[in-house]
Amino acid sequence: MFREKTLLLSALVFVVAGVLVAVVATKCRRQDEYPMPPVPDRQMPDEFPANTHLPNKPEGTISGSIDLNSFSPGRDLMRFDDDRIWWESDNDRNDTEDDHSMHVAIEGALRKLVELVDARGGTLEVHEGYRADGIHNPRSLHKEGRAIDVTCDQMPLGELAKLCWISGFDWVYYEARKGKGAHVHCSVQRPVNNER
Ligand SMILES: [Zn+2]
Repeated sequence: MFREKTLLLSALVFVVAGVLVAVVATKCRRQDEYPMPPVPDRQMPDEFPANTHLPNKPEGTISGSIDLNSFSPGRDLMRFDDDRIWWESDNDRNDTEDDHSMHVAIEGALRKLVELVDARGGTLEVHEGYRADGIHNPRSLHKEGRAIDVTCDQMPLGELAKLCWISGFDWVYYEARKGKGAHVHCSVQRPVNNER
């Protein structure tokens, strides 16, 4: 009996160790494949009015239009976590979405944004990350995980949009259309080595 238990325990340790090695290997591969891009040196905009975006060009021109042929969820998505963020999907039990899921290309800018918001005493709220289907239009970059929607109750959205811009997102849109909850939508370019 004791021998059986020992054997079982050994097998368990073996399996767990194997999984850990696989997880670490996946992480390393990802970091090699997608080194976190340096945050661009940006000036704080004087103002960021509602329903405007930076740069003042279409999102597709700046972040690159959606291309699901070059997108591979298993390869391109990561799970982002930070205790300082309020995640909508962790607080909404009626939806199966996971707002922690996003393209690895978002990581650098989002990490910087959390720091900036936290330093101002705010809590960043993430309402949407990767979403394969549902509420977005067919060309939405959320379908590739290259967009996130954020708000912050402790500051005007125009202020949050400015912080999103200096955090390094490629395209930042202060979206405040009627009938939709106002938020800041940020998107990033697909990494160059993503094309294959
Ligand atoms: Zn959005």
